[in-house]
Amino acid sequence: MAHARCEQCGNETPPWDTVHCGSGDGSYELLCTLCFNARIAESNGLTDFENVRLDPIRMIDCQGEPHQFHFQLRLLGDRIALNAFELRRELPAGYQFQLIGEADDDVFVLLGRLVEKIRRALSVRHIDFREQQIIDSTVRGRIEWDESQAGHMPLVVVDGKEISWNDLGRMLMSMEGWQFRLEIADPSEEL
Ligand SMILES: [Zn+2]
Repeated sequence: MAHARCEQCGNETPPWDTVHCGSGDGSYELLCTLCFNARIAESNGLTDFENVRLDPIRMIDCQGEPHQFHFQLRLLGDRIALNAFELRRELPAGYQFQLIGEADDDVFVLLGRLVEKIRRALSVRHIDFREQQIIDSTVRGRIEWDESQAGHMPLVVVDGKEISWNDLGRMLMSMEGWQFRLEIADPSEEL
């Protein structure tokens, strides 16, 4: 995907690191995350906020597969969201994680906690993709939009990989007659 120019600093910015920022008069500006955060910090009078760009890191999952995580720190009023995600065609895909903190929190402490959270998630495998089977009795993942289903059916991301609702249903059929519990959690919660 094409990089866009931040309307504040003029830097070429990848699509995952831009924010559409609405102004009072109803117009929109495309800003890089750093400029967006600086603007929110200024309008909220937050002088303790650390507006930093975090370098990507590479981590290995329990199958020996490498994953490159990119980070985005976003200021949301008096709180901050720290997001970690993999990229495909320069958009977030695969594993995604989030931590919510206070605007004056130490960003590197949050980053340490987020990396631990990623490490815990990468140490667990829920689906054997070769055998098309659920390994144990628990599946954790994320609900996404399935383009091929025009939004009628979810696409789920488990172990950082996409699975169609149909394929997940087929895997469940090896447990016909068993019970299940479906629990939904917000992106920052740990399941
Ligand atoms: Zn900028």
